[in-house]
Amino acid sequence: MSLSVLLLGPQGAGKGTQAKRVSAEYGIPHIASGEILRAEEESGSELGRQVKATIERGDLVSDDVMIELIRNRLGQPDTEAGFVLDGFPRTTVQAEALDSMFADIGRNFSVAFALQIPDEVAFERLRRRAEVEGRADDTDEAIERRLDNYHRETEPLIEYYRTRGNLVPVRGNRTENEVFADIQAALEQVPAA
Ligand code: AMP
Repeated sequence: MSLSVLLLGPQGAGKGTQAKRVSAEYGIPHIASGEILRAEEESGSELGRQVKATIERGDLVSDDVMIELIRNRLGQPDTEAGFVLDGFPRTTVQAEALDSMFADIGRNFSVAFALQIPDEVAFERLRRRAEVEGRADDTDEAIERRLDNYHRETEPLIEYYRTRGNLVPVRGNRTENEVFADIQAALEQVPAA
């Protein structure tokens, strides 16, 4: 039995929070594309240096780089029982690459959740996070670019997964527990893969 969960949604929608809960509840690794990139930066690698400015600006790193990092991560043995992907895919090219990764290992993902919140709420949540965490890409300009990029590049994926039949929209503008209850209810319906 393996449970492969995708979380789509703008930054500030609560993807990270919900992904951690799914990970703890179902015993599957939480794979966050942003964390992988930040770890790459902190390692001081050449790649980390290359992506730093892009991330700070609030733009997306290139599909090639991101796909390779995710392919490597999904190749680790701890993903056998499944995983929860947070922040990937963010473009149609990435979604198609993920489809072919699944095809290569003879699996399919179980469900894609689309966490939906109004832009004003996302903006305010990210501003608050900036005060708490001090992330370099939580400046007002970078937040706006990230939300623009979300609408342009990532939102079309909601249709992409809807046509494949495994999209579950979730209203994110509620308490953490309410959102998680909806996610859990949907996961209970997922047939064992
Ligand atoms: P996050 O932690 O998910 O908010 O991601 C932080 C930043 O990392 C994003 O604003 C992007 O610059 C970059 N990033 C994360 N995931 C992706 C992705 N799937 N494709 C391209 N860039 C990404």
